[in-house]
Amino acid sequence: MSAWASPRAPTTASCAAFLPLRRLSPTTPWSCTGCAGVSCAGVASVTRAQLSSADGIESARNKSWRGEGFGGKETRLTTSETETLELLSQDPRRSGLFCDFDGTIAPIVRDPETSRPVPGALGALHELARNMAVVAVVSGRSAAFLADRLELARYRSPLRAIGLHGLEEWAPEGTLRLRPGLAAWRPTIELVRAELLAALPKGVRVEDKGYGITVHWRSASATGGDLDALAATASDIVGEIGASYGLLARLGKASVELAPPLGIDKGVVVTELCEALDSAAYLGDDLGDLLAFRALDRFRSVPGFACVKITVTSSEVPGELLEEADLVLSGPSAAGRFLEVLSGRLRRSPG
Ligand SMILES: [Mg+2]
Repeated sequence: MSAWASPRAPTTASCAAFLPLRRLSPTTPWSCTGCAGVSCAGVASVTRAQLSSADGIESARNKSWRGEGFGGKETRLTTSETETLELLSQDPRRSGLFCDFDGTIAPIVRDPETSRPVPGALGALHELARNMAVVAVVSGRSAAFLADRLELARYRSPLRAIGLHGLEEWAPEGTLRLRPGLAAWRPTIELVRAELLAALPKGVRVEDKGYGITVHWRSASATGGDLDALAATASDIVGEIGASYGLLARLGKASVELAPPLGIDKGVVVTELCEALDSAAYLGDDLGDLLAFRALDRFRSVPGFACVKITVTSSEVPGELLEEADLVLSGPSAAGRFLEVLSGRLRRSPG
């Protein structure tokens, strides 16, 4: 069978080799020439969001890291990449850098307890925290989990670990700071956890985060339609039980989170963090990060304020994240390299 190629064939945004796409017929999905099609993560992320728009795909391509050996001997940057690095390097003491954890600086893994930052990202974040006005990891994870994985006690840098989408933060002295009113929700979380454990089907995992709960099904043994059914059932149960206790449900990647309704999210956090800044960047990969993106959008109207919204791709990245990004990085490894390059620039910058 010969390959059918469109004169406007797009290029995958996620493949490290940055290969052209092809499809075997007008009715089959685009597939990467290097990934033999069906398992290509780049295709999955691009086609879902942008295959209907060739211009959109070109836009994604132009916003992606490219250049072999990036972070090594040879580094070739696109215009967007160069502009982003220059923006954040201009006046680091007036610049902020914020990022999500899972899927952004740490690969998504089957067992969420085993998640760790990619090599290089950790040291870069701590170094950036010493050289920029504010650097923060803003995640749905608990702040205690972030403090451990970010090795705050070892590095002792000003890097901020903000958990539960902004409900709590691990303070430098090693204590947990809570938003007003949050502590009163702990008994409710315990009750909800017990109900979920009794009601949820086998194969899902209930993570008690202290002042929030996440139900995961990534590690379930079910596949295909069975996994879809499991996800639907689990989502319904979590939504119903959470609502009966007044908790908010937030959909994530192969998971649903429940949190107290205190009006705090990543958008609120980014708004607070940007107050004393002239520029900021946010790196994210999931729907909760859109709120951070939109907070940055609001700052764009502030005279003199500049910002960059950076989407880190995977096979599961929501299309909205690609649509709204100023820059697209191909997975946590590229995000780690981005942080390392920025950190290196600031190290060499005078003052
Ligand atoms: Mg994430």
